Amino acid sequence: MNKYDSQLHQQLIDWDKQYVWHPFTAMLDYNRCEPLIIEQGEGSYLIDMEGNRYLDGISSLWVNVHGHCRPELNAALIEQINQIAHSTLLGLANVPSIKLAKKLVEITPPGLHKVFYSDAGATAVEIALKIAFQYWQQKDAGQYRQKTKFISLVEAYHGDTIGSVSVGGMDLYHQIFRPLLFNGFYAPTPYCYRCPCGQSQDNCARECLQHLEKVMEEHHQEIAAMIIEPLVQGAAGMIVAPSGYLRRVRELCDKYQILIIADEVAVGFGRTGRLFACEHEQVAPDLMCVAKGITGGYLPLAATLTTDEVYNAFLGEPWENKTFFHGHTYTGNPLGCAVALANLNLIEKNDLIGSLQPKVALLEEGLTKFHELVHVGDIRQKGLMVGLELVQDRETRQPYSPQERIGHRVILEARRRGLILRPLGDVLVLMPILSMSLDELEQVLSITYASIKQVTEGRPGSGE
Ligand SMILES: *Cc1c(COP(=O)(O)O)cnc(C)c1O
Repeated sequence: MNKYDSQLHQQLIDWDKQYVWHPFTAMLDYNRCEPLIIEQGEGSYLIDMEGNRYLDGISSLWVNVHGHCRPELNAALIEQINQIAHSTLLGLANVPSIKLAKKLVEITPPGLHKVFYSDAGATAVEIALKIAFQYWQQKDAGQYRQKTKFISLVEAYHGDTIGSVSVGGMDLYHQIFRPLLFNGFYAPTPYCYRCPCGQSQDNCARECLQHLEKVMEEHHQEIAAMIIEPLVQGAAGMIVAPSGYLRRVRELCDKYQILIIADEVAVGFGRTGRLFACEHEQVAPDLMCVAKGITGGYLPLAATLTTDEVYNAFLGEPWENKTFFHGHTYTGNPLGCAVALANLNLIEKNDLIGSLQPKVALLEEGLTKFHELVHVGDIRQKGLMVGLELVQDRETRQPYSPQERIGHRVILEARRRGLILRPLGDVLVLMPILSMSLDELEQVLSITYASIKQVTEGRPGSGE
């Protein structure tokens, strides 16, 4: 425990407001409040400057796997930093990036044999899009050159760079940038609670798939790839796809000669209860993007994996210009790769995936109680990903007005009770650290329950 220095604390609060522009944060509102400054982490807990402990209910934005300050991961970093911190991957190799690439190929779905590194989920997506595009330009002497566009789902989120925003579909984040984006095709999201095709829960997937097939049938000659978040559309509000949907998308892509890009940035590395979400439906994508959990929450690192078929289209003499001209300065950073490798080894050594089943069951069981809360409209769960959609009126599914900031108010209440959450609008997200104990998971549930109850029912004059 660090010694508390109230003067330093106040100084940092002032400097945070003065100098730091926080991502996805309404700064006017943020600066009205006292920022919470995290100083330490320990297992499932975040610790602020005053020594208050909070359960990390969102895995530090969906990245942490084995807990904070994990000795095995710390040791891997120290060992690597005593070798070298960085050396370029442009025309040179380094030890951890080779070992990690081999490991990733071994553990990901069959057929993915090549690894291209970058630093964030958005860049992993950007790279997948560019590879898919260039692949069709170069395949079979350019006879597919008109395949230049992408299909994505309405409500998709694939990161914040211009390319990944172009295949995104969340108006709230993306609308303002429309003039900067390239055009593509959209298919409806199978969001069964609010089916975009106006269907009942049971018919939603079928109807949405029919729309998708129609787009493919009409436009497949112009379509390079379809990009999809397998099983759960995370940022859109933990929208869980109906079972069999992903499998069917893969079949349609095969039928219409469209590559499929699986964006496993959020769902990868155990989050859905399997190592990768594609495994639930035995889907092998043509390209796969991984980031977030890859380093166990330690360092920025991402990878785009692809097949020999795609990779081979880039092989040629240097002067033929078939090369993939893309790279980031820190691509394949040895520290990131070393800690990622240690993370994957620890997942295996501790049989992390096997250990998840009782936790998934505990969450499922515990979440049934949330039906008692009249403002919880929909409860969505896949593995250790949970979305609780809060509504003004459960009968009509009428959302709260944005001015209510209902999700935000609930997470502030949870914070007072010792749990860190971050909502997506009116959807409360629970993304517990995969290594959390059953006791800690129960606490996450009970604090969340009490916080929703307090905020949605406890308002003076609400009559409830
Ligand atoms: C978070 C996320 C991204 C973007 O990852 P960054 O590392 O934040 O760039 C891309 N796709 C999905 C599905 C994500 O959840």
